[in-house]
Amino acid sequence: MGFCFPAPAQPSVPIAGSPDAFPVHRIYCVGRNYAEHAREMGASGREAPFFFCKPADAVLYAAAGPIPIRYPDRTSDLQHEVELVVAIGAPGYQVAVEDAAPLVWGYAVGIDLTRRDLQADLKRLGRPWEIGKAFDGSAPIGAIRPASQAGSLGERGIWLDVNGQRRQRGQLSQMIWSVEETISELSGFFELAAGDLIFTGTPAGVGPLARGDRIEAGIDGIGTIQALVTDRR
Ligand code: MN
Repeated sequence: MGFCFPAPAQPSVPIAGSPDAFPVHRIYCVGRNYAEHAREMGASGREAPFFFCKPADAVLYAAAGPIPIRYPDRTSDLQHEVELVVAIGAPGYQVAVEDAAPLVWGYAVGIDLTRRDLQADLKRLGRPWEIGKAFDGSAPIGAIRPASQAGSLGERGIWLDVNGQRRQRGQLSQMIWSVEETISELSGFFELAAGDLIFTGTPAGVGPLARGDRIEAGIDGIGTIQALVTDRR
């Protein structure tokens, strides 16, 4: 039996130092996983983090040159959130914290792009966040570095510059839920599968982007990404 029209392309992300690509199954995101960012969003920083999703084909990368971020429609407050992305390589459901590490295939630097004005409206109205968070191209990401090459995460800097000015700076050790705790929590709600990506939350310093902005972001020992904000069309 065939399909009624050609099946959509499999979303994927390059793998550092390999001709192969990582096929994306789902994209999960953690909200407010750094206390200082939770406070800048108006929370106390003591609440438990939470989850939301983006579609798999929201991933955005560039084979060469900066990642082209097209400024989306229906917003005047597109914001950057630099995040550690965990790439899952094995299935898991209701995974204990101590059993979570083997599910990790690799790590990447990603940006959880957010239409902050729409997200603020949705929060106020008690409505779902999709149009603020899950829009086309909302998940720029760099090449995935296999966990075997990245070593243990420990104390690593995570940062994002816009036009050469540092906007975000933090340490992965500041995450409220560690990578293993995040996998354990998430796998209590969803069956994790090889190909899942988890955006693990952003440190403080999120802010607006404008057309023409040049972004550079990185995580020590994981990688760096460059992106350029362009007009929608
Ligand atoms: Mn985020």
